[in-house]
Amino acid sequence: MRMFFRLLFRNRLATLGGAVLAVILLLALITPLLPLQNPDVTDTAHRFLFPFSDGHLLGTDQLGRDLLARLLWGTRLSLAVGIAAALAAGVAGSAVGIVAGYFGGRIDNVIMRGVDMLMAFPYILLALAIVAALGPGLLNALIAVAAVNVPFFARNIRGITVGLAGREFIDAARLSGKGHLSILLTELLPNVLPVIVIAMSTTVGWMILETAGLSFLGLGAQPPQADLGGMLGEARSAMITSPHTSVVPGLMIFLIVMSINLLGDGVRDALDPRLRSGALSRPRAATEVARQGPVPAQTDALLAVQELETQFHVGPRIYRAVNKVDLAVKPGECLGVIGESGSGKSVTALSVMGLVASPPGVITGGAVRYRGEDLIGAPYETLRSLRGDRVAYIFQDPLSTLHPLYRIGDQLAEAIRAHHPVSKAEARERALQLLRDVRIPNPESRIGNFPHEMSGGMRQRVGIAMALANDPDVIIADEPTTALDVTVQAQILSLLDDLRRARGLAIVFITHDFGVVAQLCDRVAVMYAGQIVEEGPTAAVLAAPAHPYTRRLIACVPELGGGRRELAAIPGLPPSVDALPVGCAFAARCDKAREACRAAAIEMTRAGGRAVRCRFPEVAVEEMTA
Ligand code: ADP
Ligand code: MG
Repeated sequence: MRMFFRLLFRNRLATLGGAVLAVILLLALITPLLPLQNPDVTDTAHRFLFPFSDGHLLGTDQLGRDLLARLLWGTRLSLAVGIAAALAAGVAGSAVGIVAGYFGGRIDNVIMRGVDMLMAFPYILLALAIVAALGPGLLNALIAVAAVNVPFFARNIRGITVGLAGREFIDAARLSGKGHLSILLTELLPNVLPVIVIAMSTTVGWMILETAGLSFLGLGAQPPQADLGGMLGEARSAMITSPHTSVVPGLMIFLIVMSINLLGDGVRDALDPRLRSGALSRPRAATEVARQGPVPAQTDALLAVQELETQFHVGPRIYRAVNKVDLAVKPGECLGVIGESGSGKSVTALSVMGLVASPPGVITGGAVRYRGEDLIGAPYETLRSLRGDRVAYIFQDPLSTLHPLYRIGDQLAEAIRAHHPVSKAEARERALQLLRDVRIPNPESRIGNFPHEMSGGMRQRVGIAMALANDPDVIIADEPTTALDVTVQAQILSLLDDLRRARGLAIVFITHDFGVVAQLCDRVAVMYAGQIVEEGPTAAVLAAPAHPYTRRLIACVPELGGGRRELAAIPGLPPSVDALPVGCAFAARCDKAREACRAAAIEMTRAGGRAVRCRFPEVAVEEMTA
């Protein structure tokens, strides 16, 4: 809640709107207590007095009534009617929408076609018709405005409910034996409530306008009762001779509607969790770069990540997700990157092609070189031409990366045509070949499948096919087998291995499983709290891990046929990357940690193709060379 108000008040326009609205609401609330004249007493001897006349601060109207008193009472009435109409429309429309969306099928059809019929009438005509049927009067105007707005809420809320109704937590509630009413009230309502509140806060303004419009036409408030629209209507005939009589209520309507809309927009932005983590702006096409310090020198690796620093700047906090990471791959080489969840593996991978969302992500140092060319801060066009063409990604969950509404063949063809201007038929031919390459049986019939018609393993093969679509030089695979069962995982791994050998692909394989690394990777880099803590040839690291963290990670892997052995979990949790310790980040969980480990940052020690970031490594540096 504090966070919400902080964000809201950071938005200056919303703050201004809130302040103006607060003053108006306060005035409306205390109107009966103020020493005002009676708003309905006429005094024809003093008609059309200008503002600042004796006894009439804002002047008088065509019947000599005090404008200030009428303005305040009128504001009170207009606000009350507008807010009541918004509440009524919100409650009724949301109820209709939730019920239609939850039950679906015929109920949905009947309800929504009814709503469509309401929507088919021109808006203001419908309101006029309702008032004409019920007779003029403020209450009937309220009913008309509320009724006209019900479809807006019903449509909005139904759309969201349909999306929620198929989700697992609703199924779980059903399985636990909950009835429809209880599911509607305890599972669905809390999830759509924020949307209802936002929709209401953005529509109150326009309901006040509509009520004013009806009153202006003489169908709302009846004389002598004052509301803002009615005052405008009465002032119409004297618009030229005594403009103040229209300006006063007109200005008030403007202030109310503007302030409500500004505040409503601010509320919407502050409630949206995606906007909460950053400034109120869209993510950019490439990660923001604010590089300080020197750019590391060129190397001859195919892809080299050099002293890369990627941070998340969230309010006053700085999350050092990637902290001077060095990685490199040669053609045909497979590099494993391993570490616990949250150690910065994905952020490292995404930083390579500038795919970290900004805000809040910022690359603050280092370089990423593809064939020697530095990509950090490179023009967007350069990045775009490399993404998916020379450097491709495979992600963990293919269901969320494949477009649910397109056939996989079309998606593969699109990936090809994004970089190569080939004909549709040729793209399809290539897509078929790709499906064959990743050993999908029956590619001719599979090419027309939607992602949801395939199993997890098949989908991941499609993900790999898509990564291979443009014959890239480097594939960055971010936990591609984590969501799959072990037999499918083994197939996918051997597939990747074959492809690497056949095409000379360089693979950066991110995982948290040493078993996978042992099977696939030539070299392995161990990440902890945003840093590489050990690197070396897989066999050497597995045989004699140098960093205590690596040793304990390896001890967590069960071995088939390895006999009974205790699988030691590593106690404790990695440190949060917004409050890293001065010294070794692993010290708090390390049984060998000493004072020196905590005192200062630990440098990498390199020897014979291996590297370790530890003061007291498990194997001596001299032995690592051997
Ligand atoms: P993993 O190694 O599991 O792939 P990630 O690279 O996804 O870990 O995350 C690394 C760190 O970056 C984590 O500590 C995470 O909390 C932090 N992080 C990721 N995204 C954001 C974000 N948008 N805002 C703040 N911190 C983030
Ligand atoms: Mg990850």
